[in-house]
Amino acid sequence: MGFFKLIFQLLLIAVIVVSVVAVYFSSQKQQFSSVDLDSYVENEVSRAEPVATLSKVKPVTEQEIVDLIAATAGTVTVSGVHHSLGGQITYAHSLFLDMSDFDKVLEFDTEAKLITVQSGIKWSQIQQVIDPHNLSIKVMQDNNDYTVGGSLSVNAHGRFVTDGSIINSVKSIRIVLPDGQVYNASPEQNSTLFYGAIGGFGGVGVIVQATLELVDNIALERSTRILSFNEFNNYFKGNILNDESVVLHQAILYPPSFESLRDVSWRKTDKALTDNRRLQENEDEPWWESVLLTLKAKSSMMHRFQKNLVDPYLYNDEVVVSRNLETSYSLRNSGFINSDESTMVMQEYLIPVNRFEIFVFNLRDIFSRHQADIFKILISYLPQNHDGLLAGASAQVFSFKLIYLQGKNKQSRRQVEAWTSELVRASIESNGTHILPYLIHDSTRQLYKAYPASNKFFELKRKADPADRFKNLFWEQHRHAVYASAEIKLKVPVNSTGFQ
Ligand SMILES: Cc1cc2nc3c(=O)[nH]c(=O)nc-3n(C[C@H](O)[C@H](O)[C@H](O)COP(=O)(O)OP(=O)(O)OC[C@H]3O[C@@H](n4cnc5c(N)ncnc54)[C@H](O)[C@@H]3O)c2cc1C
Repeated sequence: MGFFKLIFQLLLIAVIVVSVVAVYFSSQKQQFSSVDLDSYVENEVSRAEPVATLSKVKPVTEQEIVDLIAATAGTVTVSGVHHSLGGQITYAHSLFLDMSDFDKVLEFDTEAKLITVQSGIKWSQIQQVIDPHNLSIKVMQDNNDYTVGGSLSVNAHGRFVTDGSIINSVKSIRIVLPDGQVYNASPEQNSTLFYGAIGGFGGVGVIVQATLELVDNIALERSTRILSFNEFNNYFKGNILNDESVVLHQAILYPPSFESLRDVSWRKTDKALTDNRRLQENEDEPWWESVLLTLKAKSSMMHRFQKNLVDPYLYNDEVVVSRNLETSYSLRNSGFINSDESTMVMQEYLIPVNRFEIFVFNLRDIFSRHQADIFKILISYLPQNHDGLLAGASAQVFSFKLIYLQGKNKQSRRQVEAWTSELVRASIESNGTHILPYLIHDSTRQLYKAYPASNKFFELKRKADPADRFKNLFWEQHRHAVYASAEIKLKVPVNSTGFQ
């Protein structure tokens, strides 16, 4: 082990030296940084900043939100912490509600394992409150940077094998509709509003409050295994899905050949923790990490280095940690980089489990023809989810999260657009679903195909927002479908919606 460690460290130093020299000579002007979340998202990726907003407001009370909406007849856009990537929080000359200061815990019942929060709170803030009580968030994304409102509005999911999407952990929400009225919604009360606003991309109203289920902060033990892509499905069914002790699961599908995976599962255990930290500290990564990551995304040699040397080393030890420690990674520690010339971004596809292999064949072919700079693909599982109005088509699915490097010049954007539209087509042909909080490259026809209940959502939007005030670039793209047959009223009578 000592010898292996030494070899590994020497190799790492050699790679860093070569990388630094290569990067220095290839682009003397290029500045690398660990991800600066504000500029990364607002300016570079989600296009939130380049459009002029009428006014940007950071409300702190529900009444303020009601008053702000009532005071304007114009467009309203809502945002959490701006991590959606395709203009889902952007609309020119709108009232821009930035919810990030609307972040209080309103009620916390440790016995019932329920927490009620204002919607601008981030997962990381909730973890700080619940961890001392040994409780944990039931469903969240892979990282803890996002707001509850932003996560509900995209019906986010993570690595939780049995719990699926976030909607499965929500008891109730409170929402301000465009007419200024406030409603409670749950599976029992105003259920259409509940199932539409969750996953509704800010198109129905402002979610102001949510009551979320919590679970115990149990100990988890990591296990890992290398598999060929055509062994993965059987292995998953036999060893992960049929094993109730598995809580978290994710596999890394390695570029550039996409032939092998590293399966990583976390099972409940009674063993003692090997790391006693409660939550991740999430400090910025060192500058050279960005250099390495950029090279990794671009070079087959670096991919092989990661797969054959770095990961075997990283996954070698026995690890037992608390659920909260393993679910409190920030994007800062997840290799999302930003430089003058390129930025690391994401896309996601949900593919029925029985189409796993065919989709791998398809993406392999698409990426090799387009010479895409794919950094890695993460595979996780989602059980059947027909609850949200904007839920995908299929029963059990594997989620393919693609992390790739996108240049900031036109040519690079066009290249990504070209392979993305092929991938969206391949996903739909497999009865899959392209996930929506990322760059917009799909058409309304494709939205209908991937989200068969879209019409029900459009019906709700017309009813809740007849004057089409809650907008963003995502909804603008599908506006003609939403309002095509509707008579658009410009003035909304109070309580015209029929919700109780
Ligand atoms: C690097 C990266 C990794 C990601 N990983 C995952 C992952 O593992 N799993 C996953 O499911 N997703 C993932 N996502 C997507 C992420 O979950 C969404 O982008 C999420 O919306 C981000 O939350 P936010 O607070 O930044 O929301 P924002 O981007 O600010 O807003 C997202 C949407 O929610 C609406 N919205 C925000 N707050 C409210 C509110 N209070 N009321 C009504 N509407 C509101 C906005 O109008 C917008 O349409 C990832 C995104 C990135 C960039």
